[in-house]
Amino acid sequence: MTAQVIPPRSGTAFVLQRGQRLTVIDPEGEQVSDMVAFALEDQDEAISSGRTLDYASRLFLTAGDPLYSNRSRVMLQIERDDVGRHDFLLTPCSADTFRIIYGHDRPHRGCLGNLAEALAPWGIGEDRIPVAFNIFMHVDIDGTSGALKVLPPKSRAGDRIVFRAETDLLIGLTACSAEQSNNFAFKPIHYRID
Ligand SMILES: [Zn+2]
Repeated sequence: MTAQVIPPRSGTAFVLQRGQRLTVIDPEGEQVSDMVAFALEDQDEAISSGRTLDYASRLFLTAGDPLYSNRSRVMLQIERDDVGRHDFLLTPCSADTFRIIYGHDRPHRGCLGNLAEALAPWGIGEDRIPVAFNIFMHVDIDGTSGALKVLPPKSRAGDRIVFRAETDLLIGLTACSAEQSNNFAFKPIHYRID
């Protein structure tokens, strides 16, 4: 499969079958992609930041780490990771993010709105979208105070991360819309299913 393009500040959704691999590529560098996953058969089962971080006992996940669902099943396995820094704490950016953090009067709908539109054909609305695995998002954490700082991604042009699906999944994927997350430039994201 040739790489599919997610244009800047947009998102998409697709089925990823068990055993298939999803490669997410940052074609230009310093661009974040929010990823959510639902079990295809029962979409009340979704990717879970809390369970995954609990079982990993670590905040920073990379090649070899599994991503769990709210039912403690492994949904995805990270097989390759060129960057080694992603975020699994913060929710997808949204109109409220831009209103509360950035003070925008007429905010963009953000990754949350883009994911909700892409997932609407499966009946999934905003309220069911969990904390995303924020690919390439660089959140610095002060070990003492726990203070969070969003820094430019460490990804360079062409860097990629590869996931293997451990069950049949519905995936939502974006080219993130938040200024801070992407070093104040919006770029596309490429992905491939093999
Ligand atoms: Zn975003």
